[in-house]
Amino acid sequence: MERPITLDPRSPLVLDTHELGRRPGTMRTVRRTVPAPVDLGTAVIGVPAGDDLDLDVRLEAVMEGVLVTGSVRGRTVGECVRCLEEVVEELDVPIQELYVYAERARVAVEDGDDEEDVRELDGELIDVEPALRDAVVPALPFRPVCSTDCPGLCSECGARLADPENADHTHEILDPRWAELDRMKSMFDDTKES
Ligand SMILES: [Zn+2]
Ligand SMILES: [Zn+2]
Repeated sequence: MERPITLDPRSPLVLDTHELGRRPGTMRTVRRTVPAPVDLGTAVIGVPAGDDLDLDVRLEAVMEGVLVTGSVRGRTVGECVRCLEEVVEELDVPIQELYVYAERARVAVEDGDDEEDVRELDGELIDVEPALRDAVVPALPFRPVCSTDCPGLCSECGARLADPENADHTHEILDPRWAELDRMKSMFDDTKES
C-alpha cells in the first residue's frame, strides 16, 4: 500500500530529514519556535492553540528510521479544579519518538506491532505533532490547582476562599433549634413593644 506524501514541508510542525541521507549515526539539530496545534492538552489544562512552543530536538538517523529526541518548552493554561481560577504553568518536557521508514513500518506492522504505535516517516518528512502530544499530554497535571493549599470555594455562596478579602469568610449557619428560639424571641420582643 503506497501512500502519497501528505505533509507540507513548509509547515512549522514538519521536519525534513533529507540531510541525514539515511546514514545511521548522522545527526541534525533543530531549534525552532512552533505554534501549538489545537487541542494540545486535556479538558482541564493544555497549551493554548497557536501559543509559542520552543522545540529543541536532535534528529538522528538509525537503522529503522529517524530518532527524534530533545525537549519542548512552553506554557500551559488551565483551571484550578478547586476554585476555577486560571492556572498558568511552565511546561518543559522531554520528547522522544522514533519515526520508522515507510517500508520498515510495514514490516513492523506485519510483525504484529500496533499500527497506531508505529510513527512513520512521510517520504523524508516527519510530522512532529504526534510526538508533541505524546510528550506534553501525559506531563500535564491530572487535577491542576492554583496552589497546593487552595481552599477552594465556599460551599454556601461560592466565594473564592483564597482571596484576601475572604480571609475570615464564614456564614452564620443557624442551628434550626436556635432559629426557632430566635423566632420566639422576636415574637416576645414584638409583644413587649406593643
Ligand atoms: Zn484554586
Ligand atoms: Zn460563603
